[in-house]
Amino acid sequence: MTTRCIIIGASHAAAQLSASLRLEGWLGEILVIGDEPSLPYHRPPLSKAFLAGDKAKDDLLIRPQAFYDKNSVVFKTALVTSIDKKDQSVTLDSGESLHYDKLAICTGARVRKICFPGSDLAGIHYLRNVADVERIQQATKKSKRVVIIGGGYIGLETASALNKMGMDVTVLEMASRILHRVTAPQLSSFYMRVHSEEGVKIHTNSVMTEMRGNAQVEEVLCEDGSVYPADIVIIGIGVIPNIELAQQADIATNDGILIDHFCRTNAPNIYAAGDCTNFFNNHYERRMRLESVPNASEQAKVVASSICGGNREYVSLPWFWSDQYDLKLQIAGLNAGYDQVLIRGDSDNGRSFAAFYLKDRKLIAADCVNRPQEFMLSKKVISQSVEVDPERLVNESIGVKELLLS
Ligand code: FAD
Ligand code: NAP
Repeated sequence: MTTRCIIIGASHAAAQLSASLRLEGWLGEILVIGDEPSLPYHRPPLSKAFLAGDKAKDDLLIRPQAFYDKNSVVFKTALVTSIDKKDQSVTLDSGESLHYDKLAICTGARVRKICFPGSDLAGIHYLRNVADVERIQQATKKSKRVVIIGGGYIGLETASALNKMGMDVTVLEMASRILHRVTAPQLSSFYMRVHSEEGVKIHTNSVMTEMRGNAQVEEVLCEDGSVYPADIVIIGIGVIPNIELAQQADIATNDGILIDHFCRTNAPNIYAAGDCTNFFNNHYERRMRLESVPNASEQAKVVASSICGGNREYVSLPWFWSDQYDLKLQIAGLNAGYDQVLIRGDSDNGRSFAAFYLKDRKLIAADCVNRPQEFMLSKKVISQSVEVDPERLVNESIGVKELLLS
């Protein structure tokens, strides 16, 4: 009898895991069970080029069908409803039960929804998958005014794409500044300025309390009494990890499925990767849950190694990117706990600079806007955990490659 690896969820982590399993020498079956009716596709373009109409649906696929055929990776569209650790089986919504020898939970995350008066009106959208974007695109054909709730990545990237499409865009953020959890105030001010220059209106300290309309949404009301007319509303207020399957199977969770450095859960033969996991990051010496493609892909490679008896550990430095207008933001590391921010370049007037976050004179993170060289350097320096000279870092007359020479 052949051995079988079942992967639950068919997205970034699953696409990488199925490929890496073959590279690591897995000879058994690979069965990927996902509830979206598609091969794994790139999610990042959904709020960027795909939404703006600059990328076709076929171009979203992470790998073509031919790749999976060649590597004997089988896909099944179904919802997994339970895991039986004792029998080593999963049950599908059809009632079918399937045995596994190895199981990888790659169930990702879902949008956080909020309940408020008017939340059932037509014209209110969330954005997580292709179908969501297709609905938004359809709605934009007969609309002009869009109100976006949430000034995080989804909100700002969507604002940029819809602005490009000629929509009248307003963003409402409840915190005192946009991107407040992930960046320094200088970055928030920079993005406020750029969005304003491009014609997007952003209101901070704006807590939406109600949507009004006659079947179709017509206006958004905020706590402070302000009212924003809207033909459509897009809500991007964060995600919730899909951990219920694991919880029901009594697999340890705490804001994500708890995994060790080898991406093993506390249940035998069960692994996890991607947005649904919570792991200990050696570099920052704390547990965390990350929501990014590099994290999902790297953890998937570790799962493949573990399943095949290897000893690869998950030690990568977190990194992220965001595309808005002509700006490519690349973020290296996590800035929590910084005691100093240094700006290399002109964030007040220009569109290219790097913000370096220091803690005890060591670089812990960097936000690089149209600065790929600084981004590459930062990844290296953060990993090395060495002291840096603040004056040299901001001195633009010193080339990036020479920055670390003393
Ligand atoms: P997911 O992509 O969430 O996929 C999980 C899959 O599992 C889903 O298809 C889900 O429906 C399915 N599933 C869940 N439960 C079950 C079940 N019980 N049975 C069957 N199937 C199930 N990250 C970046 O790094 N850079 C970016 O620029 C970026 N842009 C983004 C833009 C948008 C619009 C969005 C939504 C996300 C973006 N992200 C970006 C985040 C990135 O897409 C996620 O971190 C990544 O998709 C995580 O991959 P994953 O495989 O862990 O999970
Ligand atoms: P996010 O980055 O967590 O941002 C959500 C924002 O909405 C936060 O600023 C949040 O403020 C705010 N918010 C929460 N409740 C609100 C409310 N009721 N009214 C107004 N604002 C509110 O999440 P997201 O932008 O929705 O993105 C969803 C997922 O997609 C995340 O995993 C994200 O990483 C991913 N994504 C990534 C990228 C990228 O990496 N480039 C691009 C798009 C999407 P508080 O912080 O105060 O709660």
